Formats: sequence, structure tokens, C-alpha cells
Amino acid sequence: MNSNFELLIDGRALSGSGRERAPVINPATGDSFGQVAFASNEDLDNAVASAVRGLREWRSISPWERGRILKKAAEVLRADVETAARTMTLEQGKPLGQARDEVERSADFLEWGGEQARRLSDRIVHGRSGRIEIQNHPIGIVAAFTPWNFPMALAAKKFAGALGAGCSIISKPSQETPGSVLVMAKALIEAGVPPTAVAVVFGHADQVSDHLISAPQIAKVTFTGSIPIGKRLAAAAGAVIKPVTMELGGHAPVIVCGDVDPELAADMLAKAKFANAGQICLSPSRFFVEERIRERFIARFVDRAKALRVGDGTDPATEMGPLANERRLMAIAGLVDDARDRGAAILAGGERIGRHGYFYAPTVMAEVPDEASILREEPFGPVAPILPFTDEAEMLDRANGLEFGLASYVVTNDMGRQQRLTAALEYGAVAVNGGLTHYPEAPLGGWKESGIDTEGGIEILEPYLRTKHVSLG
Ligand code: NAD
Repeated sequence: MNSNFELLIDGRALSGSGRERAPVINPATGDSFGQVAFASNEDLDNAVASAVRGLREWRSISPWERGRILKKAAEVLRADVETAARTMTLEQGKPLGQARDEVERSADFLEWGGEQARRLSDRIVHGRSGRIEIQNHPIGIVAAFTPWNFPMALAAKKFAGALGAGCSIISKPSQETPGSVLVMAKALIEAGVPPTAVAVVFGHADQVSDHLISAPQIAKVTFTGSIPIGKRLAAAAGAVIKPVTMELGGHAPVIVCGDVDPELAADMLAKAKFANAGQICLSPSRFFVEERIRERFIARFVDRAKALRVGDGTDPATEMGPLANERRLMAIAGLVDDARDRGAAILAGGERIGRHGYFYAPTVMAEVPDEASILREEPFGPVAPILPFTDEAEMLDRANGLEFGLASYVVTNDMGRQQRLTAALEYGAVAVNGGLTHYPEAPLGGWKESGIDTEGGIEILEPYLRTKHVSLG
């Protein structure tokens, strides 16, 4: 198979010929299976000019009709989940079942954005000197930057909010996973979104983001990815006073209390840990386990890690695919080696699998010293450091002690403890006795350096609206 991933501007597919291109790598083999076209500054200017027209066209369509079109786009996407899922697995590596779920969830987000568009309303304030109409307006053209780990769903959240609100959008997915967003953008256009209102561009990330953020026509910047890049983009947007939505990294503490069945807890948490090979911003990543159940918990968790079938995501038997790129493989190997060198015990995995593709064995470690990098840097891979605790207050200080504030987990059947820990965790999300997946019906966003704003929920359109105060005298 050889695929070409083109730029999508003004409804036209612009190929790589005459443009810079980059290979697209299948992480299960390490081989290229296609080429992605990179946008020049002229391409980006054309995308912006087209989005100016797209904003005019799309915002003039009633919210009710926008809602119908977004719901239709969801149907188009669902009608061929299989092709979209295969594209995703080839470029990102996740097992086909997880890719199918992601396509379905992306469709759910588009549908939800359409439903919320239909609920858009203004309000009247009875002010001291007369009525004031508080109008909601689409904020304008949105520049959306999204990563490779959930190449469709993370973009779908932004498309759903921006298009539901009546904005046009220029999307820059990761050039490592170009196909998934293209599939979704084409579904949107097929369903009736004006081709001017949706553009997809690829390229050198810094060049594209600098160019788009500084373009005066761009009104809003939304990004999902790492904290360092989020800071860079937020600073660039701040310099030209543009609002941002930032969904950034996490380093989720998991608190496993001594009252629970350690085997059941280990089964549930190993599943959450190794989903998408740990490359999830919500992934559990620091396991604080109460001393009295530590041994049994570790034994079962290690069994689960060793039993996982790791392989090519297109093989139906595969439970965990490769890491998405060579950079991730090197980063995980570095974090594990660093912990091992500092005295951590590697109880499962701890090494690359094979020489082809970017496979890394599901890894469990104990006796991890405080100075190990993995306790401070987001691992974003299939590694579980397990840390004992006896004193709850001291453990909570450690759990809350990093700059991250995205997801956290509590496992206990003690109601009092559940409430106490949930209240004390300084995180935008807490999962109690279960895993954590973001679905459209509820908002989710990071605290502290993990982000600004939420995505999803009945407020999904809010980051893409601005208010006009009309005093009616
Ligand atoms: P990275 O920091 O280089 O890039 C993260 C993402 O930002 C990538 O998709 C990349 O294409 C994009 N990016 C980089 N520079 C950009 C720029 N100037 N403008 C716009 N986009 C830009 O890291 P990486 O090696 O690709 O990914 C690993 C790290 O990314 C992890 O440690 C994790 O923190 C983070 N991450 C977080 C999420 C999330 O959902 N919060 C998703 C993916 C990656």
C-alpha cells in the first residue's frame, strides 16, 4: 500500500508534487507507506483567505441547520468505520479495535457539537437603565493543532466546538498521522459543511504555527499536545492577544487503598495503563499502592503486563501495538534506563521488542527512587512505576506535587476516603474505581500546567464564542 496525504484547502486536495514532502511511517514496521505534503507559507495564506470566506458562509447558516450537517457528518463517518480505523492503525499503531472505538467517539463528538449548536441562545438582562441583549457570536477563524496519539478524536473535539459555534477552522494535525483528520474533514464536507470552512494543512510545526497564529484573520488558537509546545503556542498567541484553549500533558497519580481487592484493582488498572501503549494524556502513570496490599497488587499487575499480546495493530489478536514513533521509543527506553541505573527493580518488560517497528514491552517497576526522571517527566508510554505508601497525607503531597493537573485515580470502597481523596486531588479529572475515557457529554480539562479551558460537555461551544453586549435602552 502506498498512500498520498494531500493538503485540503478550499475543498481541493493539493498534492506533494512541487511541495516539500515527508514519509509517513507505519510504526509496526518502521517502513514508510506514503508521503505527506507540506504547506508553504503561500498555501497557508490561501487557507486563511479561504477560511475568511468560509466563516462568512458557515456562520450565516442557521445553528439548527449547522446541527443537522454536523450530525450528518457523524453518520458519514460511522458508515465506513473500517476504512477510517485501518488508516489510523497504519499511521498510529493502535490495535484495530481501539481505532474503531476512536472513530465512533469522533463521530459522537461531531454529533454532540451539532446538538449543542441547536441549543445556542442569547439572553436578555434587565439592566438598571433598560434591557441589554447578550449575544453569542462565533469567535472567528480557529487554528487547531492536534497530536498523533488520538489523531481523530482530539481533532474531533475542536471541529465539533468550532463548527457548532459557526466558526471556520484550519486544522494542523501531526504530520506523523495525517490520514485520520483528512478522513474526518472529508466527511464534514460530504455532509454539507462549505469546503471553505474546513482546511487541513501539514508541515513543519513551528513554521505552520508561527504563520497561522500571527495571521491577523485568525481569532482563536486551540492546541492539544505537550506542555512545552503548549507554552510556546500560548506565548505566541498572547503576544497578539488571541485566546487559547490548551489541552496539555499529565502525569496521573493512582491511589490504590488497602481496603480493595488487589487482584481486581490490578486487572482494571493494567487495562487502563496499557491502552494505546500508555500514550494517553489521561493514562495512569504513578501508582501509589497502600503497603498492606502492595505485594499482591504488584504480583497481579506484573502477570497482566507479561500476558499482554503485543504486535501489529492490524492483527486481531493484538492487545497492545507499537509506540507511535521512534522518538517515543527512545524516550521510554531513556526513562526506564534512568530508573534502572538509579536502582529501580524492573519486574516486567524494560526493553524494546525486536528490531522492526517501535515495540516496547509492557513494563512494571518497583523500588523507584525519588530522583528517577519517570516520577517527574510524563512517561507517555507503557511503563508503570509502583510506589508504596503508608501515610496518606504524605502520599497526597507527592501526588499533588508536580506541575501537572490533568487526570488522577482513586481506588477504594471506603466512601469517606473516596470523598476525602477526590476533594484533595488537585486535578481536572478524578476517576473513582474505574478507568477514564473522555466522551462528549461531559467537560474535561487540565488544572495547573496541564491546560486552559475544557473541551466537551454542554459548554463545548463556549471556547469558540464571543459575547456582544447590546444595550437596548
Ligand atoms: P512534542 O512536544 O514535540 O509534540 C507534541 C505535539 O505537538 C505533536 O503532535 C507535534 O506535532 C505538535 N507540535 C510540535 N511543535 C509544534 C508547533 N510549533 N506548533 C504546533 N504543533 C506542534 O512531543 P512528541 O514527542 O510529539 O509527543 C510526546 C509528548 O507530547 C508527550 O510527552 C505528551 O506530553 C505530549 N502529548 C500530549 C497529548 C495530550 O493529549 N495532552 C497528546 C500527544 C502528546
